[in-house]
Amino acid sequence: MTFAHADPHVIAIRAVAPRTPQGCEECLRLGTPWVHLRLCLSCGHVGCCDSSPGKHASAHAHALGHPIVQSMEPGEDWRWCCVDQNFV
Ligand SMILES: [Zn+2]
Ligand SMILES: [Zn+2]
Ligand SMILES: [Zn+2]
Repeated sequence: MTFAHADPHVIAIRAVAPRTPQGCEECLRLGTPWVHLRLCLSCGHVGCCDSSPGKHASAHAHALGHPIVQSMEPGEDWRWCCVDQNFV
């Protein structure tokens, strides 16, 4: 059982706009496909999900210490903490 406001990483959330709203920043550069998109709520980086070959959203989160991502899929607005591996 997790509680929505118990995660300390929510303080990293900023008012961000997607830097590459058309797709995963790294995949666009590499020419590789992605499955789902995640938005970094610290800096606006757009990365692909862990079901994608590149897993660029998780890679970004751990490389830069930006813990919280939000789904960019239509109709989804859930947020996920990459450190604690739970919804926030
Ligand atoms: Zn957390
Ligand atoms: Zn990617
Ligand atoms: Zn970021």
